[in-house]
Amino acid sequence: MKSYDAIVIGGGPAGMAAALYLVRSGVKTVLVEKLSPGGQMLMTEELENYPGFPRGIKGYELCDRMDEHLREYDLDRILDEVKEIKVEEGKHSLLVGDEWITGRAVIFASGVTFRKLHVHNEDKLLGRGVSYCAICDGNFFRDKVIAVVGGGNSALEEALYLSRLVKKIYLIHRREEFRGLKCYQDKCYKDPKIEMVLNSVVTRVLGDDDVSGVEVQNVKTEEYSEIDLDGVFIFVGFDPVNNFFPPELELDEWGFIKTDQEMATNIPGIYAAGDIRSKKCRQVVTAVGDGATAATAAFAYLEHNNG
Ligand code: NAP
Repeated sequence: MKSYDAIVIGGGPAGMAAALYLVRSGVKTVLVEKLSPGGQMLMTEELENYPGFPRGIKGYELCDRMDEHLREYDLDRILDEVKEIKVEEGKHSLLVGDEWITGRAVIFASGVTFRKLHVHNEDKLLGRGVSYCAICDGNFFRDKVIAVVGGGNSALEEALYLSRLVKKIYLIHRREEFRGLKCYQDKCYKDPKIEMVLNSVVTRVLGDDDVSGVEVQNVKTEEYSEIDLDGVFIFVGFDPVNNFFPPELELDEWGFIKTDQEMATNIPGIYAAGDIRSKKCRQVVTAVGDGATAATAAFAYLEHNNG
């Protein structure tokens, strides 16, 4: 069984920042990532609010730069899934793929996954008109009619991105007011390709082999109607990736990890950083800050509990 001083779970901005701070402090560290590094950054076309890039930076480009930075250091990496964690005093055991590894400190930076609407045909027509990623799938809908569902920053930003490609967008939101930033709202209202469908929820995705439309219900009048379209992009928030969490770990009511301001959880030696943490502001810049804070706290913990 391989033993590490620190194990970082998740290769998004929080995990990469945590790993960077740990290896630079001389801590024997492994970064465990299920797929490729980047997390939600990879799903973001343009980051306009990451300091230092006045003209914005592509999500994949910032990810590549963070990854390149990490490759300057002696960091172990495992590309596999964490399946189970056993909390023990002084060290914790993780089942990664089919192998157990141990770490004296563990940082959870496993991020979030797309929230679903849980409506008829949403799963069946995934990849056949239903999508959760504008950058990945937008190109398939050039000059077509689509719906974007949601009212947060993701829905507004992605609607603006998709509007450059498609013929028309129905922006379907369940309330009158948007949750997303005013600057994105203004741009959406001004965009001639975007038609607002407010106070409305998608009740069914329509189509046999491919999406042919959506059924929506106006939540005020309770009336149903159908909109003909070719694709539906769903951006209604995120759920935590928490299927492997130990039962002792304290979570909030939505399943995100509770921490103190040093990113420490209720279990000694276990920290959380980034979107998986219970907090309000989920941004790349806050994820990076969480990662650095968690690594610094983990380093102090390791020093204090040395040997
Ligand atoms: P979000 O802020 O949680 O917004 C989710 C939206 O989906 C809300 O408008 C919500 O409606 C709606 N919604 C939730 N469940 C729904 C359902 N079952 N049916 C219909 N609508 C539903 O999620 P997000 O937009 O993905 O953003 C997540 C986090 O990332 C936020 O903290 C956001 O600020 C951040 N983010 C930031 C940027 C940026 O700064 N550029 C870009 C993207 C994301 P209600 O409003 O009625 O609740």
